[in-house]
Amino acid sequence: MRRTGATRSALAADPAFAVETAPAAGAAPVGLAGTVSSDLGDGRYEAARRGLAVSGVVPPDRPARVVQVCDAAGVLAALDHASAAGLGVTIRSGGHSTAFTALRDGALALDVSGLDDVSIDHATGTAIVGPGTTSLALAEALAGTGLAFPVGHRASVGLGGFLLAGGNGWNQGAWGSACESVLGAQVVLADGRRTSLDAQTDAEAFAVLRGAGPAFPAVVTAFRLRLWPEPTVRRRTARFRVDVRTALSDLAAAGRWADAFAADLAPEVELTLVLSPGEREEPPVVVASVTAFGRDGDHAEELLAPLGRCGPVEQTTLAPSTTSIPDLLRVDTTPTGTGSVAQQTWTRAGYAEVLPRLARPLAAAPSPLSSVLVSSASYRRAAAPATEPLHRPRGTLTVAAYSTWVPGVDDAANLAWPTAVVEPLADVVTGHYVGELDLRATPERIGRCWEPGGLARVAAVRARLDPAGGLVPPPGWPAVVGPPCSAVETAPHHQERTP
Ligand SMILES: Cc1cc2nc3c(=O)[nH]c(=O)nc-3n(C[C@H](O)[C@H](O)[C@H](O)COP(=O)(O)OP(=O)(O)OC[C@H]3O[C@@H](n4cnc5c(N)ncnc54)[C@H](O)[C@@H]3O)c2cc1C
Repeated sequence: MRRTGATRSALAADPAFAVETAPAAGAAPVGLAGTVSSDLGDGRYEAARRGLAVSGVVPPDRPARVVQVCDAAGVLAALDHASAAGLGVTIRSGGHSTAFTALRDGALALDVSGLDDVSIDHATGTAIVGPGTTSLALAEALAGTGLAFPVGHRASVGLGGFLLAGGNGWNQGAWGSACESVLGAQVVLADGRRTSLDAQTDAEAFAVLRGAGPAFPAVVTAFRLRLWPEPTVRRRTARFRVDVRTALSDLAAAGRWADAFAADLAPEVELTLVLSPGEREEPPVVVASVTAFGRDGDHAEELLAPLGRCGPVEQTTLAPSTTSIPDLLRVDTTPTGTGSVAQQTWTRAGYAEVLPRLARPLAAAPSPLSSVLVSSASYRRAAAPATEPLHRPRGTLTVAAYSTWVPGVDDAANLAWPTAVVEPLADVVTGHYVGELDLRATPERIGRCWEPGGLARVAAVRARLDPAGGLVPPPGWPAVVGPPCSAVETAPHHQERTP
């Protein structure tokens, strides 16, 4: 068993926030030393409020209290306090919510980023992780151990929100969505009851825990994860020629290349097209990023072989640029402190149909730092989960638009841009991923995150686990279910594959 020390978040490291030391089990509940109230006259409240999200631009909502805890007893104390004070509770783990769900007017915002212990059991190939653990922290804890996990694609994404939403992680094509590798969780209910949720204790709540995202009605204090054999990672990138005069046909050509290439790929190869706006009248930049997760170096190279047969690309980086999952995460070059918001859609349209539709919004992008990621949502997972989760990709491609910008420069235009990017796809939308939606801009989309009946399942579990409504639901809840999306059906591409 290997255990990594908890690394407190930057907020907890600030002496101004003096987080109380964890009490021994069974001791009296802690006080709320990590609390900052909205009536504070100094800058601490504003720092705590802004710290509820990683984005450098946040909505103006003013929680009544921001409470930072570092263990389950602290969670319990905070929930007690909220109940006594009549405050609804919101939760922050990694702070990457694209709907800023931890940041709500008048609520008690519970920051559990300090619950970031990682404990690895090599004998069983499992791990217990706190919800504040980031993608990079888990990947680093596992590196070189022979074990791995499909962590999110960005280093600082918190496992709390990521796993609850479903988790589109590295090597999803073979390992499935990250939530399928959740074996169980420790939770604290709004009324203070502490319980374990897994397939045996409460199969329905456990299904909802794996996909309801910000609509999940309890505080998760730890997840138990199934781990996978550590792969050898190889990556290539290929850049496409796009001319400003022929942008539409060039984008269609890049899309046809991706459609043909994707059809040839093994599940262990992840293909993502990254589209960035060109600077000053320049055409958009399209880069295919191809990452293989092999049993060993030879296998990884074999998986990448189809790339050698590819067509109209400007350049292909032949030297492997990364060799491990932590390295994939460390290459992130996004400047810190930038504004960040996203919008996502699933579709069954192919790359060739999707890419030209993105030309106009890319040309109108207010920030050159922004990008649109188009990648496969399909998988042939190496082993089915023991019990099916609520989350399931509702299309074959995922299109995610991420606005990234310097705070104060066209904030309103940058906040609106991701929604404008996916608008031209409206007639081919098959659903949305609750983890990457801007639910403040499009609250009605929460009704399209799950298969028919999914919304009612979440509502039933909410009514059962949190009958008094202590946890604040996300924007859009209770959802007004919109008209059915085009061509939604049970995904035929979710075939099982023998390991
Ligand atoms: C830059 C960036 C990159 C991203 N990359 C990916 C990616 O590769 N794959 C992917 O699938 N998604 C990705 N996302 C989306 C991300 O997974 C979701 O936004 C997720 O909710 C973030 O989790 P968090 O813990 O960091 O966020 P938080 O803002 O802390 O949490 C979001 C919400 O989830 C709920 N929640 C969080 N923790 C708990 C808990 N312990 N108990 C109960 N409820 C909780 C709360 O409602 C909370 O408000 C990305 C987002 C950003 C901004």
